[in-house]
Amino acid sequence: MVTLRLNTSEDDIERAGEIIRSGGLVAFPTETVYGLGADALNEEAVSSIYRAKGRPSDNPMIVHIATIDAAEELASEVSETAARLMEEFWPGPITFVLHKKAVVPSVTTGGLDTVAIRMPSSETARRLILASGRPIAAPSANISGKPSPTNAGDVLEDMDGIIDAVIEGESSKVGIESTVLDVTGDIPVILRPGFVTPELIEERTGIVAVYDSSLKEVHSEVLDPEGGAAEINGFRPRSPGMKYKHYAPKARVIIVEGDIDARREEFEKKGTSVAVLDYGEDSMEAAHSFFSDLRRLDREGVETILVRPLAREGLGFSIMNRMLKSAGYEVII
Ligand code: AMP
Ligand code: MG
Repeated sequence: MVTLRLNTSEDDIERAGEIIRSGGLVAFPTETVYGLGADALNEEAVSSIYRAKGRPSDNPMIVHIATIDAAEELASEVSETAARLMEEFWPGPITFVLHKKAVVPSVTTGGLDTVAIRMPSSETARRLILASGRPIAAPSANISGKPSPTNAGDVLEDMDGIIDAVIEGESSKVGIESTVLDVTGDIPVILRPGFVTPELIEERTGIVAVYDSSLKEVHSEVLDPEGGAAEINGFRPRSPGMKYKHYAPKARVIIVEGDIDARREEFEKKGTSVAVLDYGEDSMEAAHSFFSDLRRLDREGVETILVRPLAREGLGFSIMNRMLKSAGYEVII
């Protein structure tokens, strides 16, 4: 299949909307990362997203809408808390998990009786949703397991010839995926950390949201282990590599808590081509650039990428979630 390159003109957005309506796949920009979109209410179309990405069928999609009202057509119940948060943070990089209505096919929600909904702030994304006249199911537009694409070139690296079209629009301002917030219970629970942090939620609304306990456990297990770390191959690993890989480039990624320049020299002496990603404490820059930097370094043929961690608070916590996964939880001192 030839993947159409579209731009953000009226004509091209109309054309992209038509492709979505007829069951096709269109990659499009959002402020978080590029999404791979299909009509969320069309089972066949949504199934083809899973196929294009090689995504496990139990990993649910986020459904994108262009107006707050559209949430009520998909969710059976929007609590007062959920409505307040939507009003404050939409359009923007936060997704709400709500009980679904029957109209949402089970394939879209990975078999769950809840649906994840987001109204993006990217104008291109909202123009596409309106042009299609449908809610658009869209995971990140990458092959499953690889770093999320934050520009059209990175989408095409994975999806050229596999999807109907890509809208070559703006690069993603935020650069990491949305915060996923479960608002089906009494206390809002963050299932995936993102740009909208619990600190920001409380500051702007007074509502207290908590991280799902597994998120914090993983961080402290890997970065604050009890007892001393053993010496292996000259490095003291902080944790045995956890198996789960996500956001992973071809290169080996390692988080370095100690002297990163000394580590770089050690790798270079062994003849390994190595690069360092060090964003200091600039969490905005880290969010914006991390995924695209991983893809760029792969194109340059770098074998090992050493990453300096950020402080695990606020946006830094969300970025560390991505960095640790991309490293397969390999952390050295
Ligand atoms: P991606 O589309 O790659 O950004 O991933 C979407 C994220 O939203 C995944 O982490 C999903 O597990 C999460 N998600 C989507 N729908 C639900 C749901 N109904 N309940 C819980 N998490 C969800
Ligand atoms: Mg993804």
